[in-house]
Amino acid sequence: MVKESNVDVLIIGAGPAGLMAANWFARTGTSFRIVDKRGSKIFAGQADGLQCRTLEVFQSFGFADRALKEANHMLEISFWEPDGKGGLYRSARLADSIPGISRFQQVVLHQGRIESWFLDAIRKWSGGRASVERSKLPLRLDIDEEKVEDPNAYPVSVLLKHLDENESMPEQFGSNVANGLFRSFEGDQDKYYQNTKDLDDDSLELVHAKYVMGCDGAHSWVRKQIGVEMEGESTDYVWGVLDSVPITDFPDIRNRCAIHSLDSGSIMVIPREQGLVRLYIQLRETPRDPATKTESEMGKNEGKALEKGRVDRSKITPEVILDNARKILHPYKLDITDVKWYTAYQIGQRVSPKFEKFQRVFISGDACHTHSPKAGQGMNVSMMDTFNLAWKLAYVSKGLASRDILKTYEDERLDVARALIAFDHKFSRLFSGKPALPGAIKSEGVDLDEFHAFFEKGNEFASGTVVDYDDSVLIDKSSGKPVPHATDKEVTLTISPLATNVIIGRRFDSAQVVNQSDAHPWYLTDRMLSDGRWRIVNFAGDFKNVPELNKRLIWLGDYLAEDRSFIKKYTPPGAKVDSVIEVLTVHASPRVDVEWDDFPLAFRPRDCAGRMDYWKIYADDNSYHEGHGHAYEKYGIAKDVGAYVVVRPDGYVSMVEPLGEEGLSKIGEFFGKFLLEQKVPPRTMFEEIETYGAD
Ligand code: FAD
Repeated sequence: MVKESNVDVLIIGAGPAGLMAANWFARTGTSFRIVDKRGSKIFAGQADGLQCRTLEVFQSFGFADRALKEANHMLEISFWEPDGKGGLYRSARLADSIPGISRFQQVVLHQGRIESWFLDAIRKWSGGRASVERSKLPLRLDIDEEKVEDPNAYPVSVLLKHLDENESMPEQFGSNVANGLFRSFEGDQDKYYQNTKDLDDDSLELVHAKYVMGCDGAHSWVRKQIGVEMEGESTDYVWGVLDSVPITDFPDIRNRCAIHSLDSGSIMVIPREQGLVRLYIQLRETPRDPATKTESEMGKNEGKALEKGRVDRSKITPEVILDNARKILHPYKLDITDVKWYTAYQIGQRVSPKFEKFQRVFISGDACHTHSPKAGQGMNVSMMDTFNLAWKLAYVSKGLASRDILKTYEDERLDVARALIAFDHKFSRLFSGKPALPGAIKSEGVDLDEFHAFFEKGNEFASGTVVDYDDSVLIDKSSGKPVPHATDKEVTLTISPLATNVIIGRRFDSAQVVNQSDAHPWYLTDRMLSDGRWRIVNFAGDFKNVPELNKRLIWLGDYLAEDRSFIKKYTPPGAKVDSVIEVLTVHASPRVDVEWDDFPLAFRPRDCAGRMDYWKIYADDNSYHEGHGHAYEKYGIAKDVGAYVVVRPDGYVSMVEPLGEEGLSKIGEFFGKFLLEQKVPPRTMFEEIETYGAD
């Protein structure tokens, strides 16, 4: 008999996308399992760039400090180009992350370390109960269509096979240096599946899940099971990647650099942790397999075939990559030591037109978008996919929200994926193409001024901070007005006149505020952690000096204490009053003029042991040691008017409303569209979340 089991969410694939999802589920006490066909995590190489928004998210899960300590901080980028005399010169320098765009700047570190922070966080939040189940290969996925609309059903069944040690290690090509050149073993499912009858029952398990997340990378098996094909194209541009310690007279080796040579291709330099440097090197001379055709020889794409035959990846070595690099960097010298990892890849841009089936099986990360790695986007966007989806699945599987919210996943993330592919398409062609010399006509090569301008603008996109989700059941843009972007005519923002720097649909940015009870300065978002809760930020204004604002504050306190409060309606009986929707207050009166008991009790609730929550009330005021955050100014909120800002569990702004009864009733209507009235005590909902104290 094959063993059978039930779980709310089954995650297939434990790369960055799967681990982010598992982390969310562990944090919110959601029933989940995560399986991966590989026998071990990765230890070197692959992705390395962590963008500003990703670091903000890591901060909200409590481990950004590890990135800041362990990673290399990338602060400057230099552009190098042919000088027309056979050499190279530095044509420009820029800040690598746009100053002021986030409290964090891009850092770089190998993917294996980043995955280990997730593994630690998953262990911590789940109390040691959850971990990645490795060497588990899914063989079959079935969806019971009759049950897909029943929120309590487990309509997706996945047959898992436990692989032995040899079966779960991909065959590695090349030298004994760790590398990304391995033979994919994506076909194994078919091999096993055809012989399921012969398989030992003990190695099989049939898992019944409410939801399945396919986080299984670019060759996604889950994507194939739901019948979705990627759309897009590949080029014949081939790039090598080498992680090593360079020995060179090139002066900017510890800066991020984009180097275009005249005839030998381009290099991107990424200075890394522990003295390492990653070189992305365009390979003009590569070992080819003449028996095959490139895609452009087959008329399938627009890339320029430089040599006959497809690249024979098994013959790529660090020496092949280094030889190409030396030609590009000439006349500078380049040797290397401490080679840690290398790989080679062919650039392609592909996106999946669907991210889900029946809102029961979802795909995320590389399973739905692939592109070149040089803009440091793949891992970041992959993690942001599941950062977007997993909290929604947590709400639905716990019966806190209706299934309607799941539709927003594809709507929100497909737009981001398409923008990413368009960005990468242009970026890779500008970077891979031969440069035009100064004075040459544009059709003769890449215009390097255009490349710099695109790079600068692209830095905003690449930071991940300007993702703007559309109107939906979770974003109410009618609470603002369309406003043209100050510098980019193609972009329209939605902004309320009550908070002119808070963009509805974008992430809620941080500003420093001071805790009312102990004078501790905080980034406001550090009091809005990713723990599954919605937040209403009550910008109460200068309530001490504006009587109308004082009235509204008292009115809100009274409302929150009443049984008719929508917050109580959506909170399971027996759970903490703030475990689904938390109200945080930021006032604009002088902190020392305000007393703790100026605030109604509802703003400083007690738990069942009588312990007071001192971390819900803040002042926009001077701190003793960290200056003044000027939060009202930063958010564009008038101190004599105030506003409510509603922020989703993933930190995106849902709506901005005026203080008082009218604004609050709109917020109540908004929640009424998807939150479900709670009548029974929670199964696991957030009661495991420790919220006492400000850790
Ligand atoms: P993956 O990381 O591919 O993880 C998929 C997981 O699923 C793997 O653990 C795999 O073993 C498992 N799996 C696959 N199939 C199955 C199956 N059938 N059953 C069970 N398990 C399965 N991105 C950046 O953001 N910044 C960078 O700087 C960057 N640099 C890169 C440099 C290089 C050289 C490369 C190759 C990639 C780079 N990327 C970068 C891209 C980044 O590595 C990927 O976008 C990212 O890893 C995608 O995460 P994922 O979780 O979607 O997929």
